[in-house]
Amino acid sequence: MNILVINSGSSSIKYKFFQMPKKKLLAEGKIEHIGETGSDIQDHKAGLKLILNKINSVDAVGHRVVHGAERFKKPVLIDQPVIKKIRECCSIAPLHNPANLAGILACSKLLKGVRQAAVFDTAFHQSIPDYAYIYGLPYEYYTKFCIRKYGFHGTSHEYVAHEAAHALKQHINELKMITCHLGNGCSITAVDQGKSIDTSMGFTPLEGLVMGTRCGDIDPALITHIMKKKRLDIISMDNLLNKESGLKGISGLSNDMRVLEENSRKGNKRARLALDIFVYRVKKYIGAYTAIMGGCDILVFTGGIGENQRGIRGRITKNIFKHLNKKPKIIVIPTNEELMIAKQTYQLMNGRELRRDPAHSAGLINAKRRRQR
Ligand code: ADP
Repeated sequence: MNILVINSGSSSIKYKFFQMPKKKLLAEGKIEHIGETGSDIQDHKAGLKLILNKINSVDAVGHRVVHGAERFKKPVLIDQPVIKKIRECCSIAPLHNPANLAGILACSKLLKGVRQAAVFDTAFHQSIPDYAYIYGLPYEYYTKFCIRKYGFHGTSHEYVAHEAAHALKQHINELKMITCHLGNGCSITAVDQGKSIDTSMGFTPLEGLVMGTRCGDIDPALITHIMKKKRLDIISMDNLLNKESGLKGISGLSNDMRVLEENSRKGNKRARLALDIFVYRVKKYIGAYTAIMGGCDILVFTGGIGENQRGIRGRITKNIFKHLNKKPKIIVIPTNEELMIAKQTYQLMNGRELRRDPAHSAGLINAKRRRQR
């Protein structure tokens, strides 16, 4: 079965085309500048047409959908009621879900009769208990406005947790794991017996770790304080927190960890400070998640930084478990969200109930392999 995996953003469509169940990558690519002034590609339908010119025989499509709120706890086959529910989630994910939906609607028009599945970034975290996902706000903000922690990068955390257990020949249902997805966006998840029980991102992907350009955890009172002090409107404040903060904001140099490591080596103090803050925050979360699980058997690193930057991994893990009698195994697993989406789509198309156990794993990979990007 040939499965087209679509990751549709506001002005781009990334795709990978797999032959399943062999997991053979047949094609991949990216269409950019959709709908931008001066671009020939007017909308997602036009973008998808370009992709379909390059590939043949699509049997099914798997879509990455960022937000499934509490409605979607696992991947689903797409039909009209599902489209309606994804649309309803747009109010709490206005930057992502409309773009994901545009990709789904374009496929419905151009690939008539081809079945589609939606795989949600939030679904893996739906097992987080209420005492971990409810914020310290009036409870009606949860019941009326759906304000709670959702967590993101779920497909990646689930994938690397299963791959790590598989690579170490252990059964995920017997493991306490901490998965660190460290890329431009960064998040950490506590995975107890194969289930996410807490994660660092929250209602949006802004909470938690210090990221490339996102601030992560800050005192919430700072938002009104800065808005008053700098006379910022909501959009400018949002921009400051999401695009001008994190490693980029602290260092004043770059959001790219490779640039910061190099400059730190050359003696740049703010690059060094950005690295120190990044490492410190990751350590703190690992400590917290070890505490809530009462231990940790496996610590997994993934994402551009987690996979490639040995120095950062070394600093994060230095002395971190020295108080534990049983030290966790530390492993690097390259993430492959698209393959996970293809695998889950394949299972849905074959009418198989999705299970969250090692059989669900998308195949053993070489844990030492590094992504070449
Ligand atoms: P995104 O969240 O955009 O998918 P990535 O997972 O590609 O981000 O991670 C980007 C981060 O990883 C950057 O800070 C970059 O410096 C760092 N990095 C280090 N080595 C590599 C590499 N070989 N390829 C890609 N990113 C790398």
